[in-house]
Amino acid sequence: MILQTKQLTKQFGGLVAVKNVDFNIEKRKVNAIIGPNGAGKSTFFNLISGVHRPSSGQILYKGEDITHLPANKVAELGLARTFQTTNLFEMATVFDNVVVGHRLRTRSNFFDAIFRTKRLKEEEERCKQKALEVLKFTELSHIGHQLVANISQEEKKRVAFALALATEPEIVFLDEPTAGVNPDETESLAYLIKKMVNQGITVCLIEHKMRMIMDLADRIMVLNYGEKLAEGTPSEINKNEEVIRAYLGG
Ligand code: ADP
Ligand code: MG
Repeated sequence: MILQTKQLTKQFGGLVAVKNVDFNIEKRKVNAIIGPNGAGKSTFFNLISGVHRPSSGQILYKGEDITHLPANKVAELGLARTFQTTNLFEMATVFDNVVVGHRLRTRSNFFDAIFRTKRLKEEEERCKQKALEVLKFTELSHIGHQLVANISQEEKKRVAFALALATEPEIVFLDEPTAGVNPDETESLAYLIKKMVNQGITVCLIEHKMRMIMDLADRIMVLNYGEKLAEGTPSEINKNEEVIRAYLGG
């Protein structure tokens, strides 16, 4: 286990979006979260990544309490979220988008930036090397020079993965990574997720496509109205009567 939530809760006014959720993210596995719209899945990610402050409960990363850390500190610890593809710079190249993504992690200080120190130049060189490396990993090298505006939706999804990978994360949080792509493209993104795990990265994934989840996930948590309804392997979840009734529509 690399990350643990204990009784994690988020209230928005009178609405309890996430309620007393205990969840363990297992290292080097695909940890999936499913549940109907409005179940609290994205809010759960927002709590872990420091976008929202929990109302109560705890988040432990490698045993360290990160419950109240701001988003930038959480990112520095090696927890990356994919950005929505709408956050990409459409009028910049694929390569430049990834270089900027890496720079956000290794942000140089004011002194370095003003005087363009040797350290800054070395850092820029490292950013570029890292960008080339993650473009190769995400199989985007051949379109590195193209403007993001001119590439396909599925390629944009892979650029979003590349951005997350450029920060050299330990855990990558993917919120509906295959939304809006066709079945073939979904398969190629699933392949890329498997490749990340083989590299030693831990994946935590919110997904609606049940076939993909059943094939890809090692463990699944089902959220319903903010509460954990069930947890288990894909085959356990598939057989769970309560899940079938509440979610799978059986
Ligand atoms: P999911 O990702 O499972 O579809 P969300 O986590 O986005 O669900 O939302 C869970 C509930 O919390 C929804 O009822 C949603 O309207 C509410 N919610 C999410 N974010 C906010 C917010 N920033 N302010 C108020 N309510 C929110
Ligand atoms: Mg959501």
